[in-house]
Amino acid sequence: MNGTTRPRSHAAFARAKELIPGGVNSPARAFGGVGGEPIFFADALGQRLTDLDGHVYLDYIGSWGPMILGHRHPRVVAAIERALATGTSYGAPTEAESRLAELIIAAVPSIEKVRMVSSGTEAAMSAVRLARGFTGRDKLVKFAGNYHGHVDSLLVAAGSSAATLGVPNSPGITAGTAADTIVLEYNDVEGLERTFKAQGRTIAALLMEPVVGNMGLVRPTREFLAAARKLTLAHGALLVFDEVMTGFRLAYGGAQEVLGVTPDLTTLGKIVGGGLPLGAYGGRRDVMDHVLPAGKVFQAGTLSGNPLAVAAGTATLEELRDNPPYARLERHGARLEQGFRDAAAAAGQPVWIARVGSMMTMFFQRGPDAVPVTGWNTACLSDTARYADFFWKMIDRGVYLPCSQYEALFFSDAHTDADIEATVAAAAASLAA
Ligand SMILES: *Cc1c(COP(=O)(O)O)cnc(C)c1O
Repeated sequence: MNGTTRPRSHAAFARAKELIPGGVNSPARAFGGVGGEPIFFADALGQRLTDLDGHVYLDYIGSWGPMILGHRHPRVVAAIERALATGTSYGAPTEAESRLAELIIAAVPSIEKVRMVSSGTEAAMSAVRLARGFTGRDKLVKFAGNYHGHVDSLLVAAGSSAATLGVPNSPGITAGTAADTIVLEYNDVEGLERTFKAQGRTIAALLMEPVVGNMGLVRPTREFLAAARKLTLAHGALLVFDEVMTGFRLAYGGAQEVLGVTPDLTTLGKIVGGGLPLGAYGGRRDVMDHVLPAGKVFQAGTLSGNPLAVAAGTATLEELRDNPPYARLERHGARLEQGFRDAAAAAGQPVWIARVGSMMTMFFQRGPDAVPVTGWNTACLSDTARYADFFWKMIDRGVYLPCSQYEALFFSDAHTDADIEATVAAAAASLAA
């Protein structure tokens, strides 16, 4: 945890802090949720990470989602090398972009046309502008604890009561921007109904993570999803699924394939870029044809559809299509879940464990009984100090978990039966200690 066990990481962090705010280029990496200093890495291969000091870890973050095939998958590396040989950026269209678009459209049930961007944030920002341009309305509905990138109008966390008007949770976001965002509690059907009844004519879009990964893993109820679809349809608002995390992760067609709900627009990121910077948004043809130059809603990008990112994304999707890992990921997920559950029970630690496929969160609770985590109001009750203790004990045993109670863990197709068993054993030892 300190400079004596990882002197090179310690020195690298000291230097980075002088040059980069907080020493990191994205705050989730700073270990703020568990205390101590971030670990700097030198190498990643398959399911393993090696830090600057030579320690090896089983990776349960996978770059926060993209690395579903593991690091440096041969098919992805070969595709990037082929693309590299013919140029890294043209600022002009390529056939490769249509091949990736075709793969996305074939995979994701609701997507009829798709536009590529460079990050999940950009995808969400663009989907919001498109929804407003298409409907001619201003208001957005989102849920507390759902993350859609650092878009001003979506970086609003909210008070805990349903239907409160948003207050910005970052300096630099104007009150006016925040006021156009209505924040509700996830899985609160009544809150949704009340909001649409009162303000339905002003709502451009309802944005949601169809399975939440960004407050820890939280599953939607069937009634909640049905209400989201029914109310948006009835009031002429667009339903936007943010599948930046769940797309190609829960199934090849994303959460919408698993849940059987068809949104109007979908945002993608993470896996769709195969570990390089690429995002996308897509959906109904009549809506997407409002994007410039087909329509009038402006959205552009110098590096959009970048050849290297498109190559990595295409190779990743082709591999997932040709050799679907989902049955194996589910089997490994079920074993991991049961192992963690047994370990917590043996240690007398109350937990709520939520999992879908290869995404999982073990919420540490204060007990005595486990409380179902259904949204931010229940997630925020977690015992984050106990999580931090568990996190560092797992690090000592060579298991790299997310550095926050409020992030889901991910594993890859490169994780073996033996890796999963080793992780379960590490969890049992860490919880008993
Ligand atoms: C990661 C994430 C984003 C933001 O994507 P970036 O590529 O980090 O900008 C948006 N929505 C969800 C659900 C995410 O998990």
